[in-house]
Amino acid sequence: MSTTRRDYYDVLGVARTASAEEVKRAFRKKAKECHPDTNSSPDAESQFKELGEAYDVLSDANKRQVYDNYGHEGLKSGGYQPQYDFSDSFPDLGDIFASFFGGGFGGGGGGRRRGGPQQGNDLRMDLALDFTEAVFGTKQEITFNHLEQCDPCEGSGSSPGSGPSTCTTCGGQGQVRQTTQTIIGHFTQITGCPNCQGTGNIIVNPCKECHGQGRKAVETKRSIVIPPGVDQGTRLRVANEGDAGIKGGPPGDLYVVLKIKPHSEFKRDGYHIYSLHEVSYPIMALGGEVEVNTLDGTEKIKIPAGTKNGHVFTLKGAGVPHLNNNNKRGEHYVEVQVNIPTHLSGEEKKLLQKLNELQQDKNSKDARDKSKHSASFMGKVKEVLAGG
Ligand SMILES: [Zn+2]
Ligand SMILES: [Zn+2]
Repeated sequence: MSTTRRDYYDVLGVARTASAEEVKRAFRKKAKECHPDTNSSPDAESQFKELGEAYDVLSDANKRQVYDNYGHEGLKSGGYQPQYDFSDSFPDLGDIFASFFGGGFGGGGGGRRRGGPQQGNDLRMDLALDFTEAVFGTKQEITFNHLEQCDPCEGSGSSPGSGPSTCTTCGGQGQVRQTTQTIIGHFTQITGCPNCQGTGNIIVNPCKECHGQGRKAVETKRSIVIPPGVDQGTRLRVANEGDAGIKGGPPGDLYVVLKIKPHSEFKRDGYHIYSLHEVSYPIMALGGEVEVNTLDGTEKIKIPAGTKNGHVFTLKGAGVPHLNNNNKRGEHYVEVQVNIPTHLSGEEKKLLQKLNELQQDKNSKDARDKSKHSASFMGKVKEVLAGG
């Protein structure tokens, strides 16, 4: 193929000032002349492609403007790709014309790739897991429905021993040619055969097991391993457990989407765990040791004297194992809250009252000290002001 590209106006044989109507008329005339169905010269095909491309650009006001200003390079850098892959198979020319002239070529396009092997569909299912199952991983038996190749007919859809017969409409090609008389001449379009749905075969004696489908729904059980660290919405791929392929095509995959049940005590954010732990007022004030629940059981935390309500302790490495590296774990953050008792024994009440009195005495003494201090301070200020 020549590397220099012809000017689109030359290709269509119109002036640069040609109107949209003139461009269209020129294209119809040229297309008629060089359409490979009517022109047997070896160049007809490439000429026809060139013509299609030229028309695609010049019939579109925006593309034509870019082409006028910047030429072929402008179209390329502007991201323009010929609307059709002209290097592809020729039979699809029907589609090109259907598109250029707004359809009306009898029957939709397509038909390509029909009838060949097809990959089966991917499937999706949800699976509920307990909080700790997601954290540490588990093994689960899942039950799902997918299409499997039918055994008795080996996926052919025909009753064993009968075999399909060749479709008489398309002669086994799976495609039919449709020749249509149009304003620019006769055009042949290739479409998928409507009689055999493009398979080329007609099932005369359908398999009783799958009713001619070649596949049938089967309830399947599989045991799957859930790795540690999975989270809400994690998608696990179970290879080849989607629907079976058609005509020897590969099967699809099954995707298991995880739904994690909440925990009564722990909250999770990524690989970190958050929890609350109530601690008595004396321990917060005097210091001590408390036992908290973690993913691995209980763990002791040292509470220093004078710990404030809402203080957060970090238990390093007590969080969730990382999905891609189980040796690494997130943290567990424990927030301590003062436990305010609602039911007190007589002795507890007495002690708290005694504590209260002590604190009130202390408070009023502090207040007196403060007022004494401020009185003397104010007195000094007054002295200074009066004394001049
Ligand atoms: Zn057919
Ligand atoms: Zn069957």
